[in-house]
Amino acid sequence: MQKEHQNIWDEACKQLKSILSGDIYDRWIAVIQCLEMSGENMRLAVANDFYKDWLEENYFPMIRKAVMVVSGKEMNISLEVDSTCFDVEKPEPEPDHSPSPLSIPNPFSGNKKPNHNLNPNYTFDSYVVGPANQFAHAAAMAAANSPSRTYNPLFIYGGVGLGKTHLMQAIGNHIASKKPRAKLCYTTCETFLNEYIDSLQNNNVAAFRKRYRKIDMLMIDDIQFLDGKARIQEEFFHTFNTLFENHKQVVLTSDRTPSEMAGLAPRLISRFEWGLVTELGKPDVETRTAILRKKAELLNLNIGHELLDYLAERVSSNIRSLEGALIRVATFMSLTNQQVDIQKVDELLHDLLDKESQAAISVDVIQRTVAEHFDLRPSDLTSKKRTKDIAWPRQIAMHLSRTMTDQSFPVIGEQFSRNHATILYAHDQVTGKAKDDRALQQTIAILKDKVSKNCAKAL
Ligand code: ADP
Ligand code: MG
Repeated sequence: MQKEHQNIWDEACKQLKSILSGDIYDRWIAVIQCLEMSGENMRLAVANDFYKDWLEENYFPMIRKAVMVVSGKEMNISLEVDSTCFDVEKPEPEPDHSPSPLSIPNPFSGNKKPNHNLNPNYTFDSYVVGPANQFAHAAAMAAANSPSRTYNPLFIYGGVGLGKTHLMQAIGNHIASKKPRAKLCYTTCETFLNEYIDSLQNNNVAAFRKRYRKIDMLMIDDIQFLDGKARIQEEFFHTFNTLFENHKQVVLTSDRTPSEMAGLAPRLISRFEWGLVTELGKPDVETRTAILRKKAELLNLNIGHELLDYLAERVSSNIRSLEGALIRVATFMSLTNQQVDIQKVDELLHDLLDKESQAAISVDVIQRTVAEHFDLRPSDLTSKKRTKDIAWPRQIAMHLSRTMTDQSFPVIGEQFSRNHATILYAHDQVTGKAKDDRALQQTIAILKDKVSKNCAKAL
């Protein structure tokens, strides 16, 4: 291949590196080889089908954009499997002791560690119970007290920062304290997938399977990561069955219910629903206040109740942000040795508080997300244009506005410069079509995901 072509690919890689996190870049992009580039065509290769499927599902549009930016033209990019060209440059498998994305030690590394890899702070004792989480909490307690005999699997879902990981690990910590020899495994779905890929690369899938199937309890965090990824679903399905048949407890968390994962195999959806599916909602102000008081006590912070109450009132979107606010105030106090008043808190947290006021899902975010997804401008969605390529995304945006916000048809109508009947009609149309159109169900799920992420990003 000519040097300048290699340069284009190298430059495109640099672009991608600046956008993606180091881990993702190393794992998914650095392993691609550019075989050839001639005229408008570029041939890329990866070592196996798994990489190919994954890249096509997740990173292909990004790769295409990066190549376009660098080469100054739209290229036809093909991705093929060519194991021969990877003999020499096979990516290094991740060393066993590398930290997982949560910086929790790998469950299988070393042998001096306890039988699990849980955060010791995530216990039932430190978990505050309120109306929005009492049911999930009770279910988690039941699973912790009689693993595999109450709810199996226990499926906990809810928005970002609402305590899913904490509650899941509380179950694990509880069991570990009662039965220190029990083999517990906590992992994120992404790590599970990455370890599976490593095992494929290194030809030791059998060891991978054994590792996950010879345990007493499996906790997999953020299982929504499986959505749309057929190969890993298949692998997970067998792991799940083995554990389930052996009466081992499985706990899963997700940001949505099983049936909301449009790209999840029906047999997995039904398995996830075998046990109990339980929701973590947004805590009310009293629970938020109690959580803050508890955190302040655990961290030994000397902050007056009045201030804690103020923070709890102002930061309502999720508990992670609430904790962030508390830590920021506490850090300021300890660095300056000063007490702070409400005015000072406003000053210290102004960016966070501004975002809080925008955090709720708005029609505006929905419009921007849908426009971006369909390659339109947000103004197209509110314009009078009636071509099909605009009218259909507009109807989807109207439908999402109705289902994802608390706003009424007339209020949504105003934001699309339409009357309430148009919104009602669009909502019915999309709901009707989605009933037996799996592709549309999936588009809607993807869009909902993007809208939530765009709102969370604003936090
Ligand atoms: P998620 O996994 O849902 O994104 P996490 O479990 O990571 O959320 O929770 C975010 C932070 O909020 C953690 O530090 C956790 O300890 C805290 N937290 C969440 N819910 C509660 C609760 N009910 N009581 C005490 N702390 C909580
Ligand atoms: Mg989590």
